[in-house]
Amino acid sequence: MSIKTRILGLAASLIVVASLASWLAYRELSENIIERWGQQVAEIQVRYDSARLLQSLEREIGLAKQMASSSTLINWAASPDDETLKSEAIRQMESFRSNFRDNNYFVALVGNGHYYYNNAENEYAGSQFRYVLDEEKPDDAWFFQLIEEGRDFHLNVNPDTELGVTKLWIDVLMRDEAGEIVGMVGTGLSLDAFLQDIVDIDQEGITTLFVDYNGAIQLYRDRNYIDFASIIKPEGQKNTVDLLFEDPQDKQQILGMLQLLKKRGDQAGQVESGFVTVDGRKHLAGVAFLPAIGWFEITLLDLHTLLPQSYLWPLVAVFLVTLLVSLLLFHFIIQSRILKPIMSLERAVEKVREGSFDLPRLEKPNNEVGWLADHFEKMAQKLGQSTRELETKVAQRTDELNRLARIDPLTGLKNRRGLDEILEEEIQRARRQDSGFGVIWLDIDHFKTINDNLGHQAGDQILCRVALWLKAGVRPYDHPGRWGGDEFVVLLSPCDPDTLEQIARRIRELVEQESRKTGAAVTVSVGGFFARPGDTSDTILRHADRALYRAKAGGRNQVCIDTRDDETALSEN
Ligand code: GH3
Ligand code: MG
Repeated sequence: MSIKTRILGLAASLIVVASLASWLAYRELSENIIERWGQQVAEIQVRYDSARLLQSLEREIGLAKQMASSSTLINWAASPDDETLKSEAIRQMESFRSNFRDNNYFVALVGNGHYYYNNAENEYAGSQFRYVLDEEKPDDAWFFQLIEEGRDFHLNVNPDTELGVTKLWIDVLMRDEAGEIVGMVGTGLSLDAFLQDIVDIDQEGITTLFVDYNGAIQLYRDRNYIDFASIIKPEGQKNTVDLLFEDPQDKQQILGMLQLLKKRGDQAGQVESGFVTVDGRKHLAGVAFLPAIGWFEITLLDLHTLLPQSYLWPLVAVFLVTLLVSLLLFHFIIQSRILKPIMSLERAVEKVREGSFDLPRLEKPNNEVGWLADHFEKMAQKLGQSTRELETKVAQRTDELNRLARIDPLTGLKNRRGLDEILEEEIQRARRQDSGFGVIWLDIDHFKTINDNLGHQAGDQILCRVALWLKAGVRPYDHPGRWGGDEFVVLLSPCDPDTLEQIARRIRELVEQESRKTGAAVTVSVGGFFARPGDTSDTILRHADRALYRAKAGGRNQVCIDTRDDETALSEN
C-alpha cells in the first residue's frame, strides 16, 4: 500500500472516529436539549389546555353551583309536591337553562327521586319532570353513587339512554341549611363539541387527554377509550390512562406521576413529565392536576413529529460535505506538500546513485521535506563538483604517468616503450601515406671501459651528454630516444634515404667533436635503415641492428646504412 493511500486512509478513519464521537456527543446533548425543551413545551401545553378546559367549564360550574344553592330549589326539594314551590322552582330552572352554555339543565331530588330535565330545544316545556330515578336501574346508578359519596361537585361523562344523549355532566349536590343532601343539579355539555374544542386540537404531534381523579379516561379523541360513567364502575373495570401504554414501565411511570401530583394536592400549576412510548413512538408526557375539577390533564408530545429526524439531515449533509472537502484538501496538501516533493527527491537520489549529478528540478515546498530536498540538492552539487575535480586530477595524473612511463628518467629522452609506440605510428602512417621513414640505431663505443675507468656516475653523465648531442643533431620533428644501456634510437619522419644517411653522419660527427671538447672523448657506432610501407617493426629493427653491428664490426665510430639488397642475408641470420 502506498504512503498516500495509508495517510488518506488514516485521515479518513480519524475523521470518521472524531465525527462518530462528535455525533454521539451531539446525540446525547441534543437529547438533553430536546428533553428540556420538551418538558417546557409540555408544561406550557398542559397549562394552555388546562386553561382552555377550565375557561369553558368554570362558568358552567359556577352557574351549576349557583343553581345548587338557590333557596327556591332547596325549599322545593324539602316539599317537592308543593305545586306553588314546584312551579316557582321550574321557572328558576328555566332561567338557569337560558344561561347554561348548552341551554340544558337537570334537577334530581333525593326526597322522591324525581328527575327534571329540559334541553336547548325546550323540548320538555311543561313536562320537565322526566322520570323517577330507580336505585335498581344501572342507568341511574350514578345519582345514588354520588349521593352516597357525598361529593359536592363532580364531572361525569355519561350517556343518558333515557334521553339518548352523551354528555359531560356537571353534577353539583344541593344541600339544605342543615347540610343534608336534598338533591342534585347541573348541566350537560355536548361531548362532541367539547372533544372538538378542547381535545381534538389540530396540532400535529400533540395529544391531549383528561383523566379523573382515579386515572379513568374522561376526555380523549378516541371515544372507545373514554371511561363512560366511571363513577359507577368498580375499580379494575375502568378505562384508566395506563391502557394507552404498552410498556409496563410507562404505565407505572404515568400512574406514579398521578400519585405524586395527588400527594401535592392543590398546588396548581405543577407539571410532571417523562418519556413514554405510544404506538411504538417516543413521546414526552406532561401531566398536571386541575384541582378546580379534580381531573388530571395529560399532554403527549410526539417528539418525532415535533422534531423530525429530517431536521438533522442538513447536519448529516454538512458532515458528509465536510468529510469530503477535508479528504480532498488533505489529499491535495499531502500530494503537493509531501508526496510530490518526495517523489522528485527520490528521482534525484536515483540519478545520483547512477552517477549523474545533472539533477531533475526538485520540488521544494517550505517544510521539512522541502528543506531536505534543498539540502540534498546542495550536497549533490558539492559532490558533483568534487567528483569533477577529482576526475580532472586523476586524468592529469594519468597523463603525467603515461608521459613518465614513456620517458627515460636519466636522459629525459623517450624510453623504449615511447619509441615502440612512435615506431608503430610511423609504420601505420607509412602504410597510409605510402611513404617511408628513417631509423637510426647507435651505440656508444667501448662504454664498459668508460664505466670501468671513470666510474658509473661519469658513465651516466656521458649518457646524458650523448642524449643532448643527439637532440642537437636531429630535426625538431624527429624522435630521438634511449633504447636501453648505451644504445639510442632515432626515428626520422618525414625522411628519404639521403636525409637518413646525412643525419646519421651528422650525429656521429657531433658526438665525436663535442665529446672531445669535454675532455672525455666518446664515439658512437651508427646503423641506419630506411623503412618502407609494409615493413614490420621487427624487420625494421633487425635491419637497423644489423647496420649497427656492421658499423661495430667495421671498426666502430662509423655509420653503416643497411639496404634492402641484404634481405636474403638478413633472413639467414
Ligand atoms: P662495444 O664497443 O662493443 O659496444 O663495447 P661496450 O663496452 O660498449 O660494450 P656494450 O655496449 O655491450 O656494453 C654496454 C655497457 O654499458 C654495459 C654496462 O655496464 C653499461 N651500462 C649500461 N647501462 C648503463 C647505465 O645506465 N649507466 C652506466 N654508467 N653504464 C651503463
Ligand atoms: Mg657499447
